[in-house]
Amino acid sequence: MLKIKTEDHGEIRRHGEETYPHECCGVLLGRFDDDGARVVTSTARCGNTRTDSAHNRYNIDPKELVRIQREGRERGEDIIGFYHSHPDHPAQWSKTDLGEAHWFGCSYVITSVEQGKAAVTNSFELTGSDENDKRLVDEKVVVAS
Ligand SMILES: [Zn+2]
Repeated sequence: MLKIKTEDHGEIRRHGEETYPHECCGVLLGRFDDDGARVVTSTARCGNTRTDSAHNRYNIDPKELVRIQREGRERGEDIIGFYHSHPDHPAQWSKTDLGEAHWFGCSYVITSVEQGKAAVTNSFELTGSDENDKRLVDEKVVVAS
């Protein structure tokens, strides 16, 4: 389960609308609760480094990710997930998304953006123990103020 504030949820969707028709991407920061839920306490936008195919690919610069992780830790936040948008495509993960997901136990949020307007926002948890048996599993998203 992913718990997220209305404000952060809206920010992800807004980011997707701003970068349309290209994909946006970013990081979810927060904490892991004892019951297994991930709680978002802030989001960080990333620049999409995939300039060759930015409409259906995203990539976060590793240096940017290290900086976001460090700044998060200073505030007591961990990286608990990632988000990106699917311009004019459903909010479902692609084979590429699964291939490029490596953070087990983290949430992968996908927002579809149709004709420039954010539509459905889904989240998937990366489960499994290694690269061979990993899966992206539907998870519940609780949006609350
Ligand atoms: Zn994707």
